Amino acid sequence: MSVSSVKTNNKVLILGAGPAGLSCAYELVRHGFEVTVIEKNAVVGGLCRTLQYEDYLFDIGGHRFLSKSPEVNQFWDEILPEDFLRVSRKSRIFYQNKFFSYPLRIGNAMSGLGMWESVQCVWSFIRTQIFKPENPSSFEGWMTQRFGQRLYEIFFKSYTEKVWGIPCSDISSDWADQRIQGLSLISAIRQAVSWSKESRHKSLTQEFLYPRLGPGLFYERLKEKNESLGVRHLLNTRVETVRYDHNRITEIDISSAQGTLETLPCDYLFSSIPLTHLVHRMDPQVPPGILEASERLQFRSFITVFLIFDQEKMFEDNWIYVHSSDVGVARIQNYKNWSPQMVPDPQKTSLGMEYFVTQGDELWNMSDEAMIELALKELTQIGFCRGATLIKGHVFRVANAYPVYSPGYRETVAEIKGFLSSIQNLQVLGRAGLFRYNNSDHAILTGFYGARNLMGGRHDLWNLDI
Ligand SMILES: Cc1cc2nc3c(=O)[nH]c(=O)nc-3n(C[C@H](O)[C@H](O)[C@H](O)COP(=O)(O)OP(=O)(O)OC[C@H]3O[C@@H](n4cnc5c(N)ncnc54)[C@H](O)[C@@H]3O)c2cc1C
Repeated sequence: MSVSSVKTNNKVLILGAGPAGLSCAYELVRHGFEVTVIEKNAVVGGLCRTLQYEDYLFDIGGHRFLSKSPEVNQFWDEILPEDFLRVSRKSRIFYQNKFFSYPLRIGNAMSGLGMWESVQCVWSFIRTQIFKPENPSSFEGWMTQRFGQRLYEIFFKSYTEKVWGIPCSDISSDWADQRIQGLSLISAIRQAVSWSKESRHKSLTQEFLYPRLGPGLFYERLKEKNESLGVRHLLNTRVETVRYDHNRITEIDISSAQGTLETLPCDYLFSSIPLTHLVHRMDPQVPPGILEASERLQFRSFITVFLIFDQEKMFEDNWIYVHSSDVGVARIQNYKNWSPQMVPDPQKTSLGMEYFVTQGDELWNMSDEAMIELALKELTQIGFCRGATLIKGHVFRVANAYPVYSPGYRETVAEIKGFLSSIQNLQVLGRAGLFRYNNSDHAILTGFYGARNLMGGRHDLWNLDI
């Protein structure tokens, strides 16, 4: 990437050192801006950081490096030229005590479902092509239209309701539209019978890149690069107050882990912290209608229970989706299948039992011991740890992991956007910053384009599609 310098003395502050914040800092510092990044955690990477428990490495979810954007692919290669592994995806769905390949393979799905159920699925699909579903703007309607009622119920309903904690009829179709894009039964069948590893649909792609020490390795290297160019990263530092005067941000208050408060002057602010948090931290208080709007926006949170077993091999998948509704776990990661270096001893296996929760609910408040017990019980119940002995467990909770696309969220976000756009030296970035359920490549691009807007660009970050 070629850079022309736009030397400036402007003090730019960036809230959050996730993919969006760090990428924004990188783009700005290369153009001569004085940049400070403020991050509440002790490490960079945000949701993409690598976690460590003893000598084991874990990922929040499992972060595939996979993008249709040539710019993002080039950036990944530039920052981490030698430490990416090329991983062949293996993932399956566990439903009614059977495994189904995912992406769906037609023969495998039919043999799992049995001939009679398969015929009923096809019939159900034909029916929905004739009698259209009632509410195509809900996730349920969107899916039913493309897959038929029966397949939707088998392969999408229970998992989606675990993820969001609300009925699929109350989830906006925007989520499916954005994440599953043009996928339908017909295209899944086309994909299923194709020999090609190149999928037309990103969600079905068979190979991805993964840093050998987990996704955080990329962001640690990006931070080092930023530092070498002059970016200041304040870690263990939380933004408390964002002060503004009419249409300009003037300064922010930050607090360190020890509780000391400091005020930083600000010429320009980028925020990738949750949109709702930004609104609540503004001083003077934002108009009551905007405050109310931000209270209507919800995030889903995420718990991973790390379980370390004294067994070399437990299953071959990178991850397994658990659709069975008699257990709460939604997905199981097997980290050594992402990169062998996630596990210090090849004779051991570390799994991540993933639960989607709402902050403050029963699981969120459960003690770590009870959570580990629950995870082990569920793993045993679904038969995944036969003969394996648990060595240790650890629980990790992450708030604000998923912006919830409930009906009306779009209008609510538009109200907040309207208010924030009156502030001339502020841009919001990234997943929680824009309240947009998107992957890291999108967050990175919002960082780049936000930086370019400061240099005269005219990118609409709220509607950036890749
Ligand atoms: C389970 C799961 C699986 C995923 N899988 C993938 C995948 O396979 N591939 C992929 O590309 N993406 C994946 N993603 C999405 C990816 O993690 C996000 O798109 C990306 O991390 C968003 O980057 P961001 O910089 O916008 O936000 P974040 O990563 O959330 O970073 C925001 C930062 O702001 C900081 N912050 C918040 N409040 C404050 C405060 N008051 N003061 C200071 N700092 C603050 C946070 O600590 C955080 O570091 C997944 C996400 C989840 C939850």
